[in-house]
Amino acid sequence: MSTAVARRVELLNKRFENASPLEILKGSVAEFPGKIALVSSFGTESAVLLHLLAEVDPATPVVFLDTGKLFGETKRYRDQLTKLLGLTAVNSVAPDPAAVAARDPRGVLWTQNPDACCILRKVEPLERALAPYEAWFTGRKAFQATSRNALPLFEAEGGRVKINPILRWTKADLEDYFTEHDLPRHPLEADGYLSIGCMPCTSRVEVGEDARAGRWRGSDKIECGIHLPAGQRPALAET
Ligand code: SF4
Repeated sequence: MSTAVARRVELLNKRFENASPLEILKGSVAEFPGKIALVSSFGTESAVLLHLLAEVDPATPVVFLDTGKLFGETKRYRDQLTKLLGLTAVNSVAPDPAAVAARDPRGVLWTQNPDACCILRKVEPLERALAPYEAWFTGRKAFQATSRNALPLFEAEGGRVKINPILRWTKADLEDYFTEHDLPRHPLEADGYLSIGCMPCTSRVEVGEDARAGRWRGSDKIECGIHLPAGQRPALAET
């Protein structure tokens, strides 16, 4: 880890310790002018962070990983929110076609090795998409999973600063924000999909289950890899 980035993160965590999500977004966009992006899945809660970003600067780049395995509803929701919020720099990023042809020619890698599939379709494209930036926003919340409980607002990762502006908001805070700003819902949410990723690896959630219980159901996998610390991430393939 770069010492300079680690030191910067330490200072940012102190400076924004008691800041609101909007203040964190505003301050971060000013801290990294032209060098910051937001990564969004356009999932069930994404509209909140996207709306906040649009309040700060709708021209801030937004990276959307189009894995080739998404629900059509997610892509239509992306288009709906982009237009509604006036976002002008939403960039849909696909996996490298040559790498897909070489490593997943039949499109069934997810059935055999989901970690390798996530590397190919999410981790590597994200790494490429973030290359021009010094910092990026995520939509992670502490309440989503025990593995996210202890996250800081700012993290040093891979030579970049990773920022979690709505980390401390509760589910109720998000619901209130949706209502207050009359934001549209992901079309699959009402059908029982509370956390939405790729179609083959997402299932409905039963009453009483965690929101993320429907992701990679039946396996130990809980993260796609883009949020795993560098040391715990499977090695990127050479392409
Ligand atoms: S979530 Fe499933 S289909 Fe999507 S990249 Fe990961 S393993 Fe592949």
